Amino acid sequence: PDGSDAPEIRQLDATTVERIAAGEVVERPASVVKELVENAIDADASRVRVSVENGGVDGIHVEDDGHGMDEAAATRAVEKHTTSKIRDIDDLEAGVSTLGFRGEALYAIGAVSRLTITTRPRSGDRGTEVRVEGGETTHVGPAGCPTGTTVAIEDLFYNVPARRKYLKQPTTETDHVQRVVTGYALANPDVAVTFETDGRERFATTGLGDLRSAVMAVYGREVASAMEPVEADTPDGPLDAVSGLVSHPETTRASSEYVATFVNGRWVTARAVREAVVNAYGGQLAPDRYPFAVVFLDVDPSTVDVNVHPRKLEVRFADEAGVREQVRESVKRSLLDAGLIRSRAPRG
Ligand code: ADP
Ligand code: MG
Repeated sequence: PDGSDAPEIRQLDATTVERIAAGEVVERPASVVKELVENAIDADASRVRVSVENGGVDGIHVEDDGHGMDEAAATRAVEKHTTSKIRDIDDLEAGVSTLGFRGEALYAIGAVSRLTITTRPRSGDRGTEVRVEGGETTHVGPAGCPTGTTVAIEDLFYNVPARRKYLKQPTTETDHVQRVVTGYALANPDVAVTFETDGRERFATTGLGDLRSAVMAVYGREVASAMEPVEADTPDGPLDAVSGLVSHPETTRASSEYVATFVNGRWVTARAVREAVVNAYGGQLAPDRYPFAVVFLDVDPSTVDVNVHPRKLEVRFADEAGVREQVRESVKRSLLDAGLIRSRAPRG
C-alpha cells in the first residue's frame, strides 16, 4: 500500500542454499541420531551403541559393528549427495530396501557440526579417520579401530546460532533422542541396541531377535509381562498382516507415545494406526490413558507413502479407513482372546 516496487528476486548463493538444506535434515539432536542409527542398520550392524552428552548438544556418538568403509568410501561419504544405496532414479522407482538412499545425511550433519568418522571395513586391516568441520573435510588419515563405524558429533549447530538457540532443555532433547533409539530398537530386535546418556546406560537390548525381550529392555519387565501378542494374517483388508504386542488395559501411560507403529519394518508415525489401537480397547482404558503397543503392519509398498522426506514422519495409506478397521479388529481379537476386554465393549 505504500506504492513501492515489487521486491527484487535474487538467486541465493550456494552456501546459503546448503545451510537451508542441511537445516531441513538436521532439526535437532534426535534427527542426527535417527540418520546415524539408520546408517548403522543399513550397514548390516548386529550391535549399535548410541550415547549422547547434554541432550546431544555437546556430543552424539553412534558406534556400530557393520560393514564399515575403506578410506575412499569414508572420504566420499561426507560429500554432498553421495550414497552407496541407489545409483539412479530407476533404482528408486524399483524400490529401495535400505532405510536411507538420499545421500545427504552425513553431509548435512557435517555442515552444522564437527563430525569425526572412524571406520574399518570387514575385509580390511586398516582403519580410517575423517574429520569434517562446518562442511569442510579437515583431515583424512589412518586410525586404529575395530571393524565397523563410529560417528562422533560435537558442537551441533555451533555455526547456526539461531538453530542452537531454539533447542529445548537438554532433558527434552534427550527424551526425543530416547524415543528415536527406542523406535529403532523395537523395529530391529535382532540388533543389540545400547542407549547411554551422559555416561549412564538407559537400556540395552539383547539383539537375540525376540520382540518381547526388546520390549522388556526398553520399557521394563513389568510392562513386558503385561503384553499380549497380536497375530493376524487377515485376508480381507488392505494390510497383509498385523503383528506385535499390546498391553493389558490397566498397563497405561498418560501419553500416546508408547503406541509405536511400524510399516514394513520401518518405524513411522501413523496417527490412524495409533487411534485404531486405542479404539480397540473399546472404552476400557481410563480417561486420557494410553496403552503400550508395538504394532507391525505388512503392506504392499505401493499403497503407502513412507518417509520420502527426512522430516516427513507421518505415513499415509491409500485406504486409511480399511487400515483403521483392520488394525482395530486385530488388536481387539487379541485382547478378547486374552480375556482382557468384554466382547460388547461400548466403543468396540
Ligand atoms: P544415505 O544413507 O542416504 O546413503 P548418508 O549421507 O547417510 O546417505 O551416508 C552416505 C553413505 O555413507 C552411505 O550410502 C554409506 O555407503 C556410507 N555410510 C554411512 N554411514 C555408514 C555406516 N555406519 N557404516 C557403513 N557405511 C556408512
Ligand atoms: Mg543415511
